[in-house]
Amino acid sequence: MAERKTLDERQQMSEAERLRHSCAHVLATAILKLWPEAQLAYGPAVEDGYYYDLDLKHRITPDDFPAIEAEMKKITKENLVFEKVTVTREQALSDAKTGRLGALTERPEPSRFKLENIQSIPEGEAITYYKSGDFLDLCAGPHVMRTGNIGAFKLTSVASAYYKGDEKNPQLQRIYGVAFKNRTQLDEWLKMQEEAKRRDHRKLGAEMGLFALDAEYVGPGLALWLPNGTAIIEELETLAKQTEFQAGYVRVKTPHIAREKMYVTSGHLPYYAESMFPPMELKEPGVNAPEAPADRYYLKAMNCPHHHRIFSAQPRSYRDMPLRLAEYGCCYRYEQSGELFGLMRVRSLNMNDSHIYCSPEQFAQEFNAVNEMYLKYFKIFGIEKYVMRFSTHSKEGLGKKYVDHADLWLKTEEMVRRVLKESGINYVEVPNEAAFYGPKIDVQVWSVIGREFTLATNQVDFAVPSRFGLVYRDKDNSDKTPLCIHRAPLGTHERFVGFLIEHYAGNFPLWLAPEQVRVLPITQEQIPYCEEIVKELRGQYVRAAMEFSNDKLQGRIKRAEEAKAHTMLIVGGRDQAANAVSVRVHGKGDLGSKPRAEVIADILAAIRERRA
Ligand SMILES: [Zn+2]
Ligand SMILES: [Zn+2]
Repeated sequence: MAERKTLDERQQMSEAERLRHSCAHVLATAILKLWPEAQLAYGPAVEDGYYYDLDLKHRITPDDFPAIEAEMKKITKENLVFEKVTVTREQALSDAKTGRLGALTERPEPSRFKLENIQSIPEGEAITYYKSGDFLDLCAGPHVMRTGNIGAFKLTSVASAYYKGDEKNPQLQRIYGVAFKNRTQLDEWLKMQEEAKRRDHRKLGAEMGLFALDAEYVGPGLALWLPNGTAIIEELETLAKQTEFQAGYVRVKTPHIAREKMYVTSGHLPYYAESMFPPMELKEPGVNAPEAPADRYYLKAMNCPHHHRIFSAQPRSYRDMPLRLAEYGCCYRYEQSGELFGLMRVRSLNMNDSHIYCSPEQFAQEFNAVNEMYLKYFKIFGIEKYVMRFSTHSKEGLGKKYVDHADLWLKTEEMVRRVLKESGINYVEVPNEAAFYGPKIDVQVWSVIGREFTLATNQVDFAVPSRFGLVYRDKDNSDKTPLCIHRAPLGTHERFVGFLIEHYAGNFPLWLAPEQVRVLPITQEQIPYCEEIVKELRGQYVRAAMEFSNDKLQGRIKRAEEAKAHTMLIVGGRDQAANAVSVRVHGKGDLGSKPRAEVIADILAAIRERRA
């Protein structure tokens, strides 16, 4: 952070961002009322809220929040105007030296962060203050009109942060808060936070026995899938396999490691080395000469290079194209340990990967089919809000950030843009954020409680296939290089299941539920009948089990509800005599006694259709 916003970016600040940033001024004012000596650094708006970095001897803790919030309340009540003042550089420097900037009055100490900040403002750019009451801050704006426009706010946390994000700089205290137009919006936000906490994938993952992280023996960020979690990921794989099969994909299987040469050719080495696990060195007697350097193997960070080698393992002609290679490939990325987070940031990832090799003429149709697949999945999972972020190159970055093929960039981007437009898909275009070798699309989705997740990235690659010398023999007998589409609609198991846990709050639909059916005999007499039902269901690959104990039925029902077993079949003497079962669905309650054949047929249909 601390990168100065351009004037353009400032003008584009949304109403909500202005409000949040304005609240950072109010926070700073409140801090100074309590601790006038505080040295303020930066106070930008961030996602959802704002923060202010400051240096202060007193260590602020959440116990201080009520007092700070009370001061903030007074300031918003006063409804002070945010007054813009343009000053000369000399004036600004002089005010910083007298401690007047980021302060309520002049002070014995200079405003040292503001002083440095003034020096970083480009020559010729206007220097402005914003004044609200006694608080005078160096700031380029924009803000809301008055402090009273901030209808509701709350301080949320305090952390330490290095000045300008550089660990060589002194550590500051960073106070985070949120701000909204009105109380209702704040209440909604608070409710969503509560709901997100209740749906936390780490909490539910442990309670439901979905996955475990065993840093001591397995390693940080390397998730173990427990039986219940494995049931979910196998359903996802089946969904992917069936969908891809119908869309003309073929499946492949590749090892988890490859020689150094692979990643030098792909361009991952040396540029991407920091995100890969360090190499394994191998010296085989009789293979490597004693004085020769050891062979180096890397854990794969991507599946693409292996798939490229599959492409070139056989001669290819235009008749083979498009070739759609699919694999749930396991990749390894060396994320910083501080960045690891539950299933969301991990070091081993099982990816719903595929590489589609096609001619430029086939591109539009292939790319469109990929988008269709996304929409199909969104429908199955009840994802109603999504956006595709289409990142393009910049002319200035050619030859540096991007492969130097101006015409290929423009042509490929235009193809992607056309398909996105024609398909009516919801997308935004983001300049200058493409991948090195082609435009990319990040797919962002929102869970039912409105939290945002980046699920997957699609890329169009017009550079790497030629680095690997991939060619197909075209109709005119010449060798041509294919385009390659990288796509992973279901992302990785880790992130996707993490998302689904929150999305469903652990109450998975029948087809995904780790425990689909629990059969409960009321007395011992019904056990054989219940065993028969379980056998019939398991014969159809339904995850069903019987539970009998001497506990009262109510207690057993409660346990099944807590375990989030999807459907309960309760069997008493009367049910058995009528060849029936009493159905109870998790979250829906009692559905009454029904003929056994009808119930089983319905369960099978719901699973087959992947009903919500
Ligand atoms: Zn400001
Ligand atoms: Zn790829």
